[in-house]
Amino acid sequence: MIKDYQSQKELCDSYDFCIVGGGPAGITLALRLAGNGRRVLLVEGGGHEYSQNSQSLYKCPSSGLDVYAEEARLRYLGGTSNHWAGRCRPFERSDFTVGPPVHLPGWPIAFSEIERYLPAAMDILDLPPHSEFKAINATLDDTEFEADRFLLSPPTRFAQKYAKQLNETEGLDVFINCNCVDLEFDNKTGSIAAIVVSDYELHRERVIAKQLILATGAIENARHLLNSESLVNGGIVSKDGFVGRCFMEHLNVELGTFILKDGQSTDSRQYFTTDTFVMEHSSGKGNVSASLVSEVKSYGRMAAIKGFFENLICEAGEAQKIEFITKFNCPGDGVIGTLIEQFPNPNSRITLIEDRDALGMRKPTVHWELSPADRSTIKSIGLEVAKCFAKGGLGFVKLEACVYDEDLPLKVSPHAHHMGTTRMATSPEFGVVDENCKVFGVANLYVAGSSVFSTGGASNPTMPLLQLTLRLAEHLNRMS
Ligand SMILES: Cc1cc2nc3c(=O)[nH]c(=O)nc-3n(C[C@H](O)[C@H](O)[C@H](O)COP(=O)(O)OP(=O)(O)OC[C@H]3O[C@@H](n4cnc5c(N)ncnc54)[C@H](O)[C@@H]3O)c2cc1C
Repeated sequence: MIKDYQSQKELCDSYDFCIVGGGPAGITLALRLAGNGRRVLLVEGGGHEYSQNSQSLYKCPSSGLDVYAEEARLRYLGGTSNHWAGRCRPFERSDFTVGPPVHLPGWPIAFSEIERYLPAAMDILDLPPHSEFKAINATLDDTEFEADRFLLSPPTRFAQKYAKQLNETEGLDVFINCNCVDLEFDNKTGSIAAIVVSDYELHRERVIAKQLILATGAIENARHLLNSESLVNGGIVSKDGFVGRCFMEHLNVELGTFILKDGQSTDSRQYFTTDTFVMEHSSGKGNVSASLVSEVKSYGRMAAIKGFFENLICEAGEAQKIEFITKFNCPGDGVIGTLIEQFPNPNSRITLIEDRDALGMRKPTVHWELSPADRSTIKSIGLEVAKCFAKGGLGFVKLEACVYDEDLPLKVSPHAHHMGTTRMATSPEFGVVDENCKVFGVANLYVAGSSVFSTGGASNPTMPLLQLTLRLAEHLNRMS
């Protein structure tokens, strides 16, 4: 049953499971754990719709590269699935077999541990069963890149799709406007004794649950751990530890422009680095998309400028030149964009500042930077894709100088894919959660979502995070 904690203070005395956060991860977990006589509580900080008092709790200054942390997340039931784009691509086997070329280990679990949950995750995301991740325009005959495969979810909006089940599933209590503001760690038992929740009028209450799962997205999952004084005093979270470190994004870099050769198809193309490429260049993976300028810039200011020029075309002397410019789509036929893997880097991290939000929690800040290894990945992908275009007779690529000259500043924007801040590892020396997504040193605290990613690959994160969430649900169901 979905209840509004602002007006209905009807929490039970204790629960078997308490899940914090009603986005894709939290909703999926809640529905898998409820039933069989278990009592499950899902606490969601926002309401049914966007509201400023909830969203402003996501304010998060940043340093280094801008992550647009507030805009990239939505804080109400359904979470960021309320405006995600639905692009789905599974992790590759090599994401799990080859560690990153930095001084940190990769995934501690086998690819098969996530692969077997792919059909169920596809079903959740309304992708047709058994459908292949399709190659689009497989025109590049090369060992370094292959035609990329991805599927588009409708996109699934979790709050709408699962509204009936959230309301009707036996044993499941869903409270909206119910914000987790503290985790109370008990040193004697080595477990979380209670979580503290608050409404927007600062009415606070302790909630007892046997197992607690954080599913609030990668910035907030780390924030909750860092914010808990009892976890800090108990030595579970420390300044030098991994909580909040290794924040990763997928790098969105405009590599340059291209001009197609006559006769080449004008359809957009997507390519993905092969394992051979990654080994040869010791680089990260990347999706490269070549899109025609006429497609990507037929809106906004560019559309207005083109419209203006088109209307100017008349018998006057300059008419032919202007017509040529508008048809040619200056400055080239298309642009090359990317979704590139970033390696885990402890310096990119979430920390807390002294300022507190309206509910009394310390505010987070993100420092996001590009390491030399990331720049090298971008350079390798840029240079090799340009060569492949030429070799394959597709056309000519003009790379941005900052792609190959690493002394020049590079413009990178994020994809709103936050990962890595509670990374999975075999020991606290290299991460925050173990192979079962349990926080090291705490008997009953788990994390769901892309914050547990040890490496991020170049696959969109939501489907893989659902695969891991389904695995976590199975583990928790087996345990209790
Ligand atoms: C514009 C955009 C486009 C995207 N497109 C894609 C795409 O095409 N493909 C893809 O794979 N991914 C995409 N993503 C990323 C995708 O949205 C996320 O991977 C996904 O939503 C993460 O799910 P989650 O459940 O872990 O976190 P979230 O969706 O962020 O959910 C977290 C939930 O926790 C709640 N919460 C937070 N704090 C508290 C608290 N203190 N107490 C209680 N509840 C709390 C929030 O209200 C929210 O409901 C996109 C993101 C954006 C912004």
